Amino acid sequence: MTGAPSGFSTVVGHADTIARLRASYARDRLAAAYLLHGDDGIGKRTVAEAWIRLIQCLTPTGPPAEAEACGACASCRHHAANTHPDFLVLEPQEATVITVDQIRDAQAVLPYRPLLASRRVVLVPDASRLNLEAANALLKLLEEPPPHVVCVLIAAQRERLLPTLVSRCQAVRCAPPSEGAVIDHLIRRLGLAPDRARALFIRAQGHIGPAIEAAQIDDDDPLSLDDVGAPSTIAKTVALLDLAARIGKDQQALKTLVAWLSLWLRDVLAWKITRDPGRVLHADRQSDLTWWADRLSIDDVSDLASGLHAVWASRHRNLNPQLVAEVALLHISCRVTHPRRQETA
Ligand SMILES: [Zn+2]
Repeated sequence: MTGAPSGFSTVVGHADTIARLRASYARDRLAAAYLLHGDDGIGKRTVAEAWIRLIQCLTPTGPPAEAEACGACASCRHHAANTHPDFLVLEPQEATVITVDQIRDAQAVLPYRPLLASRRVVLVPDASRLNLEAANALLKLLEEPPPHVVCVLIAAQRERLLPTLVSRCQAVRCAPPSEGAVIDHLIRRLGLAPDRARALFIRAQGHIGPAIEAAQIDDDDPLSLDDVGAPSTIAKTVALLDLAARIGKDQQALKTLVAWLSLWLRDVLAWKITRDPGRVLHADRQSDLTWWADRLSIDDVSDLASGLHAVWASRHRNLNPQLVAEVALLHISCRVTHPRRQETA
């Protein structure tokens, strides 16, 4: 966990989920395992971490329905410093799978009484990464859990987990925060202008995590990703190389760029076919969309979109994100600045 404040009060949306978790805490009857499931990028891990801090806090504050970790006790301080002796996170090794050895290592510690908090907690931030052997080992653990252990699993799709494992968990569905809640958060917490907050919300397709990441990538940047759609930027090789240089080795930044370009091309296509502002996400960019739509055929847009898909598929191949971004941007730039003959439709 990071050192940033991370109580429930900092979570955007998720009121129902938080109410359910608090109710379970207030009754003092925690399940041995919880499964938080719902779309990627909506804040499930933030909710889980606030919940874990609460159930391990030594001096929680507020009435049960509004309970929060105190932020000051030894347990909370260890969480803030990432040194909690009773908290274990099972991340996939080499960003691929969680192995049975990781579960066995956990099993070796979990039977012992917690050192600091009243319970030990295991967090599995992406349970879909458990390989079959690991999932079966975790299932064994959940069949006879030590009384002081709580497991918190997170997954985008519970259907992709071992059904027997899911049946051992109290499943809590997490709904995405509303558009208003995400935009309000971007304005109030990150100090963005309302137009900028809305543009980021659109770019991140309504997902709070990617929206915040995009805001941070854009921070202090003279060129925002939204400018890539401007004819003066996409036609300027130097500007595109600068943008790629800022991506550097950051895979996440590459992901944000690819996501933005995909949405932009989607808009170009929708604009080309309909010229209906109600059908595009960037309704405030009609003259830029027209410029693109006039220069690209439907086949061009489709080719460029497939190219982006290939870029995205290559992300695990240890390619340099900056070079990948350069190639993708220059390819698009070339196609749009040297249009081929348009089909007559
Ligand atoms: Zn505390």
